Amino acid sequence: MGEEEITLLHTPPLITEPERCSGCGRCIAACPEKLYGFEYYQHRKTSRNKTPAKCTLCGRCVTACPLDIIL
Ligand code: SF4
Ligand code: SF4
Repeated sequence: MGEEEITLLHTPPLITEPERCSGCGRCIAACPEKLYGFEYYQHRKTSRNKTPAKCTLCGRCVTACPLDIIL
């Protein structure tokens, strides 16, 4: 109890279903490299990993998304 669950990754995660993104911003807050930012997808505010090449594969964004759409 109490320890944050971290998923170890092999490839930089991306938002798989941007049409479902609620724009909550948790992935933006979670990423220590500040790779996520808001943009508009089909006129809805959504998030996107703008520089996946700089990803350190820490997995925090995957864990942070309440909709499980970052994979
Ligand atoms: S895995 Fe870590 S460094 Fe990579 S995008 Fe997610 S939070 Fe940022
Ligand atoms: S955490 Fe998930 S729902 Fe929230 S802004 Fe990021 S991708 Fe969208």
